[in-house]
Amino acid sequence: DADPLPLRIFFIPFFATGHLIPLVDVARLFAARGVDSTILVTPTNAALIRVTVDAAAAGGLPLRTLIYPFPSAESGLPPGVENISDLPSEESYKIDLAAPFTRPAHEQLLRLHRPDAVVSDVHFPWTALVARDLCVPRFLFTAVGLFPVSVVTSVRQHRPHAGVARDDEPVLVPDLPHPVFLTRSELPEFLRRDVPLRRFRDEYMEAETASAGVIVNSFAEMEASYSEYYLRARGLRSWFVGPVSLATSNAGLRGGGDAAASANRTRCLSWLSAQAPRSVVYACFGSWCRFTNEQLREMAQGLEASGRPFLWVVREEDGQEWMPQGFEQRVEGRGLVLPGWAPQVDVLGHEATGAFLTHCGWNSLLEGAAGGMPMVTWPLSTEQFINEKLVVAVLQVGVRASERCRSTVDDEPHVVRAEELARAVGKIMDGGEEAEGIRRRARELGEKAGQAVREDGSSVKGLSDLIAEIRDWQGKKKDVAADVVG
Ligand code: UDP
Repeated sequence: DADPLPLRIFFIPFFATGHLIPLVDVARLFAARGVDSTILVTPTNAALIRVTVDAAAAGGLPLRTLIYPFPSAESGLPPGVENISDLPSEESYKIDLAAPFTRPAHEQLLRLHRPDAVVSDVHFPWTALVARDLCVPRFLFTAVGLFPVSVVTSVRQHRPHAGVARDDEPVLVPDLPHPVFLTRSELPEFLRRDVPLRRFRDEYMEAETASAGVIVNSFAEMEASYSEYYLRARGLRSWFVGPVSLATSNAGLRGGGDAAASANRTRCLSWLSAQAPRSVVYACFGSWCRFTNEQLREMAQGLEASGRPFLWVVREEDGQEWMPQGFEQRVEGRGLVLPGWAPQVDVLGHEATGAFLTHCGWNSLLEGAAGGMPMVTWPLSTEQFINEKLVVAVLQVGVRASERCRSTVDDEPHVVRAEELARAVGKIMDGGEEAEGIRRRARELGEKAGQAVREDGSSVKGLSDLIAEIRDWQGKKKDVAADVVG
């Protein structure tokens, strides 16, 4: 037999950095296996991934972008606003509302280029229809793991909170591989009230059912039982290919490839090299969530009171408003407050970093796990409260920043007090059996994550299986074509 034709796959990421970064990494993994990989992306999002894509292409990988316009006029968003991090947190839904206007561009590009497979973010359900027309498989990319997907699936199916009087009463989520308790306030907003985005969810579910399966940035050693649950509950297969942050190395500029991010990288890494091994608390809350000034002040005081060195990434501008008086002088040398973008994967892989204060965004959770980090969890919105359960209750590699019930949809979120934060940091950094257990489990999880992406690892095999699957489709399609011609 002649060599099979190279596969061509199109990847379509959503307009959020936490969706963009891992899907670009997935595309790069395919490219590293010789798959011709094209990322469909809008102009300002293309700029966020340019460094990564250019580096891959310069290294000879068949990875490229195909740029299409963001539907600014149709959606009423100002030109250049193309990513949820371009808007205040409470307006991020406007990007979701803009997504359907990208349908014509996606359809046109897919029909024109006829790739062998489409890997689509969950926000673009129509890609399932186009793929069906083209007789190619459409894979779903959820940007989160199968633990949160399974929890949401079960809650939708069983509605365990119906009839529960109190919002802060923990309720068992039925049928999952582990006992998971969630309060109603911890559910993502779309499961709790009729928000504008709710109607989209049904469309996403239909497209999910019509997909060939799900590609997941996670690894079997952490989530295999949820892959089985998902197959049982939804009849859909899944392939683990992560942690993608370990499988690809990209100079720490993922999602922040500008001069400021580059300067931050140098600053962070040289500061970290002057710190003792495993001593630093790294605090970062993803790409788009923001805090009130009151909360930032408490956080500053909490980090100071923890007595530990800290590296704190702050996305809010104007430190004058919230910074406690004399804070910078008091913590000089011990604390680094970094405005903007940190090279997170490098920081979490650095030997000086000893703990991760995280909002439990899926990528952060996985990057923390991959770095063997014990975590202090501080969820803020969406499925982050569910992810927190995985860290604290299931894997037991972290503690909560605050024991008080908090919520995904509070208009006035509870403020986490400085004492609570300092206590939580102490719980994982101090001596004592509990802390040592958490640190040991975190270290072991990091080792398993590393093995998953090494030769013969579970995620390397996951990717091979997936490529074989797509080749099968390609073969079948050719057979059909030959029949038609014959
Ligand atoms: N990130 C980073 N530097 C920062 C903030 C975020 O590199 O200063 C990266 C982080 O490594 C992760 C992504 O941005 O890959 C954020 O995704 P996550 O799912 O954790 O959170 P989201 O931004 O979606 O809330």
